[in-house]
Amino acid sequence: MYDVIIIGGGVAGCIAAYCLGVEGVKVLILEKEPLPRYKTCGGGIVLRAAMLIPFEIDLVIDRKIYAADIFDHDNHLHFHVERYKPIINMTMRENLDYYLLAKAVGNDAKFKDKILVTDLIIKDNEVEVITNKDKYFAKYVICADGATGISTKVLGLRNNYIKVPAIEHEVFVPEDLFNKFSNSARFDFGFLSHGYGWVFPKKKHLSIGLGNMYDDKANLNDYLKAYLKKLEITDIIKVEKHGYFIPIQPKKKKFTFGRILLAGDAAGLADPLTAEGISYAIETGIHAADSILEGKMNVDEVADRYNKKIKKLIGELKNSRFLSYFVYSLPSIRKFVFKKYGRGLSELMTDIFMGELSYSKLVKNPLNYIRFIKPRNFMKQPVSEGF
Ligand SMILES: Cc1cc2nc3c(=O)[nH]c(=O)nc-3n(C[C@H](O)[C@H](O)[C@H](O)COP(=O)(O)OP(=O)(O)OC[C@H]3O[C@@H](n4cnc5c(N)ncnc54)[C@H](O)[C@@H]3O)c2cc1C
Repeated sequence: MYDVIIIGGGVAGCIAAYCLGVEGVKVLILEKEPLPRYKTCGGGIVLRAAMLIPFEIDLVIDRKIYAADIFDHDNHLHFHVERYKPIINMTMRENLDYYLLAKAVGNDAKFKDKILVTDLIIKDNEVEVITNKDKYFAKYVICADGATGISTKVLGLRNNYIKVPAIEHEVFVPEDLFNKFSNSARFDFGFLSHGYGWVFPKKKHLSIGLGNMYDDKANLNDYLKAYLKKLEITDIIKVEKHGYFIPIQPKKKKFTFGRILLAGDAAGLADPLTAEGISYAIETGIHAADSILEGKMNVDEVADRYNKKIKKLIGELKNSRFLSYFVYSLPSIRKFVFKKYGRGLSELMTDIFMGELSYSKLVKNPLNYIRFIKPRNFMKQPVSEGF
């Protein structure tokens, strides 16, 4: 019998295991894939996310990026933002997640890979975890099994999330072409009407992708071909193509089921504006572990604490959703806003990535509207130009 079984060896699961292991809790991670495993992801860890991790992750960072280039295709504008601290740390998820797992194991968490969890039976004093091989028992289960894991099916949440499609290509190009993109995180708005494109430089290749935040009918593969052309990336040595879903909104706000807690993508918590999910995976993983520890394994107490902690995140994501509505579902308003306030918007979004500003503060603090309208007075290091 374990104190806590965690389903999923991704960011949310490994961070939760680490936090519990540090406190001497008997933890087992069950992961269906052989580890380390590839995970479809841009691998951009915004500074806000990196700061949440309770230890250094430099060993698995391919590149620290201090600049962002935001291209507004509606108005042919380009905004360049720089910071003194890395805005985004670029990683490959198989490296990051495996490193987090090693940290958890270093604190006595156990893990078993190639174990597919197939069912969960909630009992009065324990949860029975049924897998393709054995049965396991625990006082608590943290479901950190991603956007399409077993927990959503077992707990009747299959249709509970708004999931948006995203594709991501690992693109290997000649060195001179790679160098053109190697020092900045590039974001393109207006190229895809209801979503955005990104170019993230890794150690020796580029992660190039598109997320479709409002219209799941657009053919992302066709758009990606056109996007590569637009970027003038035609000389490609090798490309690995991937696609997956990003859950940006849980309809029912229910994150605990008796002795079961949902974390990360399994809880449906990724940012509706940026599709950034790593920070929410980290935060919910930490919250799940803390709630179990603080609630001293009392079911009601644990659930109460977890729901309270998550409520703050829900508020934050609600404000992000409000902004995403204008950016992705109303292209004419986006065009107007970018044209007039694109620089201010780019600065403020960078502040959010840096953890210096929250969506709630952005929406509620009148001072931010002045920064939005007159960014020059508050600029840190911005330059902008047409393209
Ligand atoms: C194309 C794309 C690009 C993205 N880019 C970024 C980005 O640049 N920055 C960012 O912050 N976010 C990004 N995201 C979002 C981010 O990837 C997710 O929000 C994040 O990975 C969630 O982490 P997690 O630990 O909750 O889930 P996951 O990382 O998905 O981990 C879940 C784990 O559970 C395992 N599992 C599933 N079912 C079972 C089962 N039945 N039994 C056992 N194990 C199981 C899976 O194999 C997996 O290892 C992107 C997403 C996509 C799709």
